[in-house]
Amino acid sequence: RFKGILLTRDENKVMSVNVTELGLDDLMEGDVVVEVEWTTVNYKDGLAITGKGPVVRRWPMVPGIDCAGTVVSSENERFKAGDKVILNGFGVGEVHTGAYAAYARLKGDWLIPMPEGMDGRSAMAIGTAGYTAMLSVMALERHGITPGRGPVVVTGANGGVGTVAIAVLGKLGYEVIASTGRTEEAEFLKSLGASEVIHRDELSGPAKPLNKERWAGAVDAVGSHTLANVLSMTSYGGAVTACGLAQGMDLPTSVAPFILRGVSLLGIDSVMAPLALRQEAWSRLVKDLDMGKLEALSTEIGFNGIVDAAHSIIDGKIRGRVVVDMKKS
Ligand code: NAP
Repeated sequence: RFKGILLTRDENKVMSVNVTELGLDDLMEGDVVVEVEWTTVNYKDGLAITGKGPVVRRWPMVPGIDCAGTVVSSENERFKAGDKVILNGFGVGEVHTGAYAAYARLKGDWLIPMPEGMDGRSAMAIGTAGYTAMLSVMALERHGITPGRGPVVVTGANGGVGTVAIAVLGKLGYEVIASTGRTEEAEFLKSLGASEVIHRDELSGPAKPLNKERWAGAVDAVGSHTLANVLSMTSYGGAVTACGLAQGMDLPTSVAPFILRGVSLLGIDSVMAPLALRQEAWSRLVKDLDMGKLEALSTEIGFNGIVDAAHSIIDGKIRGRVVVDMKKS
């Protein structure tokens, strides 16, 4: 038997978080068993463990949406014992038993081979949040938002998506404006690659349909009024990516930015993103994310720290990314 976290629900739908012993029989079907060596705590994992959001849709559930580890056994032709792999999303930790256990049984079709130049610890310091930041940058590029077009604003700048987005955009030569509620972290954000730091209060109230043009592009992980303000301040022909809902799920905006300035809103989903796009994002991360900056924006914890970190991320207290060494208690 091996250690794991199990979320259970009683007949009144009251959830309990149990740090317990599991067996392979507690894990759902899959053709590859992976020894989980590294994992992470994303905002979605926080929602699952605190019960603050309807992330878990099958009970009981082992939470944890990301892992990196070594294949122990495989009936999938793409993988064999000893292979190093990464898993992000695909409903793992939501509807399929997930990463917060010493072993995970997964579908081989969900796994990507560890890219050359990456290891398990770096992959999980990046995690879904960082790989979503890369998907967002790639979407801006596809839309023609090059560094020469003007600044790019990153909202939720001190969060997981935000810090990785700043580091990648900075390395690619963009002028980055970081929007944060934690302006005391301005020097940290500048060390990652931001050239300007603004307070998130500037963007968090009700938005006008159009406002002064301030940036050519945006990576938004916050949603709600913030995204509405970001759209209203995007310059003619610019583009904004939307991946998150840290402020809220609503989007109180108008069509004005779209029909009067030709602004585009680009949706980003990491969970069901096709394998080819994932592989492209991971190889771009090897190339375009400075590993020194990744180290600076991540904090390492052991297995026993997961539940506390899940509460802290929902309280907005985590700076950057959390990486979990599953061999450490
Ligand atoms: P995170 O580390 O908690 O970062 C979120 C950041 O948002 C916080 O650090 C904070 O930044 C800011 N924030 C929090 N509450 C806010 C509020 N009420 N108003 C304005 N800003 C607020 O989370 P994450 O892992 O980066 O994820 C960010 C969001 O993206 C989450 O909603 C997550 O579910 C979503 N996400 C979606 C996908 C996808 O596939 N679509 C993938 C990954 C993540 P400051 O302290 O700097 O203000």
